Order: sequence, then structure tokens, then C-alpha cells
Amino acid sequence: MTDEVSKAQGAAPSEDTIFGKILRGEIPCKFIYEDDQCVAFHDISAQAPVHFLVIPRKPIPQLSKAADGDEQLLGHLMVVARRVAAEQGLADGFRLVINDGKMGAQSVYHLHLHVLGGRQLQWPPG
Ligand code: AMP
Repeated sequence: MTDEVSKAQGAAPSEDTIFGKILRGEIPCKFIYEDDQCVAFHDISAQAPVHFLVIPRKPIPQLSKAADGDEQLLGHLMVVARRVAAEQGLADGFRLVINDGKMGAQSVYHLHLHVLGGRQLQWPPG
């Protein structure tokens, strides 16, 4: 088991998260994209030459807790992922990951899309 997975297994959904603190400006973070619905920033523990996160401003804890009414927002997150991936030079492809819950090795309970690229990624994931 990797450190990331053991950390994720100890994580629990909570009202407040590190991403909530980032959104409120309580923790400094340089956004590479922001609009009224979401922000994007580089992952602090990059797993690829380019690794950024796209998170909604709305505090949805995880994808499985999103509502049917979040359809527009969820689509918007993917459009932003595509746009920022292009800006980050990922013309040859990239991977989009959403970890959900304990079995998905989610560690921060504020929905986020990982966008990874800049090297040849392997499949399947562990
Ligand atoms: P997950 O395991 O899918 O919940 O991913 C959470 C991600 O958030 C991990 O890849 C962490 O490296 C990343 N992360 C945690 N804290 C920060 C932070 N302050 N700034 C940027 N990324 C962070």
C-alpha cells in the first residue's frame, strides 16, 4: 500500500477541508485559473510533470455526493480541465482522475479533478 493510499484510508469526510481554506484565502495558493464556479491550482505533491486540480467553489465533498442538479457545474469542471490542460501544454494527451471515497483513495473531501500529463502515463492504475 502506498503512503497516499494509507493516508486516504484514514481520511474522513468533514465540513471543512484544506481546499475550503484555500478557497477562503486562509491558505495561500496561486490559482492558474479561476472563475465564479471553480478554481485550478498545481497539486502540492505532483505525480507527473504537470499535475493540477480543478475544484468547484461549491463544497461538494465527493462525486458520489453530487446532486443531479450539479450537472452543469460538473460539466463546467471538465471544460475548464480541458482548457487549462491546453494552456499547460498537454497537447499530446493527459489523464483526468476523480478519486471517490475510501475505496477510491480520496484524501481531501472536497470534490476535485486531477489533471496529469507531461509524461507517458501507464495503465492500469494501482
Ligand atoms: P485525493 O487523494 O484525490 O483526495 O487528492 C488530494 C490531492 O490534494 C493530493 O494529490 C494532494 O497532493 C493535494 N493537496 C493537498 N493539499 C494541497 C495543497 N495545499 N495545495 C495543493 N494540493 C494539495
